[in-house]
Amino acid sequence: MLRIRNLNKSFGDLHVLKDIDMKVLESDVVCLIGSSGSGKSTLLRCLNFLEKRDSGQILIEGEEVNPETQNINKVREKVGMVFQHFHLFPHMTVIDNIIEAPVHVKKVPKKQALAEAKELLRKVGLEDKADVYPSKLSGGQKQRVAIARAMAMKPDVLLFDEPTSALDPELVGEVLSTMKELAEDGMTMVVVTHEMSFAREVSDWIVFMQEGRVIESGPPEEFFTNPKETRTKEFLQTTV
Ligand code: ADP
Ligand code: MG
Repeated sequence: MLRIRNLNKSFGDLHVLKDIDMKVLESDVVCLIGSSGSGKSTLLRCLNFLEKRDSGQILIEGEEVNPETQNINKVREKVGMVFQHFHLFPHMTVIDNIIEAPVHVKKVPKKQALAEAKELLRKVGLEDKADVYPSKLSGGQKQRVAIARAMAMKPDVLLFDEPTSALDPELVGEVLSTMKELAEDGMTMVVVTHEMSFAREVSDWIVFMQEGRVIESGPPEEFFTNPKETRTKEFLQTTV
């Protein structure tokens, strides 16, 4: 579904992503872990073309994506993103947040977009919140709306950047279970998270980054029980 080859990115003199190679198979959940500053957000932002890579290739479904020569909005339709701080439009109701991009970017007829949005709200357990404004929702509910909004574009891949880090602890579980259901429905997902039990239980593949490099990757069982690299072992000792 997604392939990254030799990706490099610097901010001025700061080399943030170093020769990143990674692949994400269809319907897989890949968890991206690593301490703060290791380049996880920058990698996700490159995958969504919010950030321009310096070199390397990004292939979606086997096709190289080049924002310099291709319509960036078309490309972004394929890759959805859910942020730590939700980024809902505060002046729009929940349902209007969800139909905004399908109607205005994808030109889906409004009636159809509304029906699909209602179905998505049902999926994330918020069918009764269609007509309220985001300010009336808890953080967990806002994040579930943000997930529904991203899904409304029917992306091939959904990227999550620490989706539960801004939430009160008692609200983390509802968002993780929504994500788990998406995963069970076969959604292809790349998730930056510090929730190691989620990573262990839900992901098909773990990628551990440090200082802009992929240090180790593998299936969760092996990664958590038998890490090979010293740096991975040290990281796991500090988090688990
Ligand atoms: P992580 O998400 O793993 O915490 P980030 O990708 O946010 O890491 O950041 C990696 C490094 O890049 C950090 O040193 C950060 O300060 C730097 N960085 C991130 N975004 C920018 C930017 N827009 N300009 C300059 N430096 C940045
Ligand atoms: Mg980050």
